[in-house]
Amino acid sequence: MTPVDRVLQEAWRRRELEPARAWTLLGQVRDAPMTAPERAAWQVTDSYLQFREARQAEALEATGQALAVLEKQPSSWWYSRALNVRSCALLELGEWEGALELLGTQLAACRANGDRETEGCTLHDLGVMHTRRDPAHARTYLRAAREVFTALAHGVGLTYVAWSEGELLDALERPEEATARYHEALDLARAHGHHFMEVLVLARLGEVALAQGRAAQGEEWLRRALVKQDAGPGRPLWVSVPPMVHLLRRSGRLAEAQEVLETQLARADAAGMIVAQLSMRELLSEVLEERGDAVGALRHARAHLQLLRREHAEEQQRRVRALEVLHRTALAEWEAQSQRQQNGALRAALADLEALHRQAERVSLTDELTGVHNRHFLMTRVATLTGSLPDGTAVAILDIDHFKRVNDRYGHDGGDRVLRAFAQHLAGRLAAGELLARFGGEEFVVVSPGRSVGEAQRTLQGTLASLGELRIAGLPATFRLSFTAGVAALRGGDLLGALRRADDLLLRGKRQGRGVVLPEPDSG
Ligand code: GH3
Ligand code: MG
Ligand code: MG
Repeated sequence: MTPVDRVLQEAWRRRELEPARAWTLLGQVRDAPMTAPERAAWQVTDSYLQFREARQAEALEATGQALAVLEKQPSSWWYSRALNVRSCALLELGEWEGALELLGTQLAACRANGDRETEGCTLHDLGVMHTRRDPAHARTYLRAAREVFTALAHGVGLTYVAWSEGELLDALERPEEATARYHEALDLARAHGHHFMEVLVLARLGEVALAQGRAAQGEEWLRRALVKQDAGPGRPLWVSVPPMVHLLRRSGRLAEAQEVLETQLARADAAGMIVAQLSMRELLSEVLEERGDAVGALRHARAHLQLLRREHAEEQQRRVRALEVLHRTALAEWEAQSQRQQNGALRAALADLEALHRQAERVSLTDELTGVHNRHFLMTRVATLTGSLPDGTAVAILDIDHFKRVNDRYGHDGGDRVLRAFAQHLAGRLAAGELLARFGGEEFVVVSPGRSVGEAQRTLQGTLASLGELRIAGLPATFRLSFTAGVAALRGGDLLGALRRADDLLLRGKRQGRGVVLPEPDSG
């Protein structure tokens, strides 16, 4: 583990109970040189802290960037963590479908990479998501989350699970069992110093007691929640204030209600917590009205309205911005995917074309019947090559003798068979670098780079003699084949000139009675 790695792990570990410390740690390495996966891990932790402070656009932006890197490393725990933060932000935005889909991916990812902590978080979040819609599934998920966190001895995780199980039982209208879970959550929150959860649970216990008609008990819980909240670090929680004020108003203790509200409003103002301010001012204006302080009530009502307008606009803006980020990322992903698909299709098409081209080339340069090169090959490829061949290079033309008779006697098929056998026989006797092409009909050309006319002539005479051994399937053993050839020397790379002279020699050979190889006399 690199030093940067260690700091990032530490920041991640502290994200929940000590977010301020986590911010500091991130700040310490922000400008340090980092690898791409380390930078992604930095972004994941940053995105969680952004999410906790209700900045979903920033959280989505950061997870989007991190995932672009981490998707290539699904075995990294930062990958499952990135998915986790992203699904939390989506849930916060009410993007249920997207969140649900992501939670599925996330569950598979952390199960595959052995990231048990994120697995517990994922199961818990699935449980919370299903609480209102599908309590049976919610229970299953929460139970599974509990198992994971128990195995990890993960106090904070167990606190959340106990709390969420309480909420589920509340939703199922089973207040006694819910209370038992809230108590469990309270004990866990205390044991692990989870101040936020402690205040939350105390307030909830108060509300449940009040709902059950246990007013004194309820007031006691709410009072403890308020005290705890005032004593705690970090952002104040106002969850216990509305039920407390409600209780005091109902029992005619308006002065006390006003006092609680004014104290809490001052705290909310100091912390710049708009939602808390809204809630306090609204209640305060009601309490003041009840107490006959119309001017005070109006003042708070106005302030409340102003705040409400501003907050509404800001909230809307934040939400719109977050959704923009979300859709921009989705669009980018979609574009990248279709680009990949297009590239894939293009590559496939190119490969097809190249294969076709190779095939076409092979077909256009190969003689279909015999499988040796054809005239086109000779006139294009070989003609361009001969420019670089030395003067004196042997060029021979061979013509099968009395081939018309072969056709006449054994049919066109028999003739074809002879042509194939003859071509293969010639090809089998070529030296390295020699080229053989069917020039047309029963005529073949051999170009012998680096070989003199004399050498080529001797070789071809050997070939002529070897034909006595050639047996062709489908033709009688008595069948004998011969050819006549002329061999000329290449001069100035002029293949056609050499071919013309070789052909003259060939004709002379025919006239002399066939079955001979005539060399160009003055070829040296
Ligand atoms: P020569 O000894 O003077 O060369 O006599 P030849 O019978 O070989 O005379 P010529 O060159 O005029 O005849 C070539 C014959 O080859 C004519 C044509 O019918 C036949 N031929 C040309 N191409 C093919 C082919 O692809 N298959 C078959 N079976 N016969 C072919
Ligand atoms: Mg001929
Ligand atoms: Mg012939």
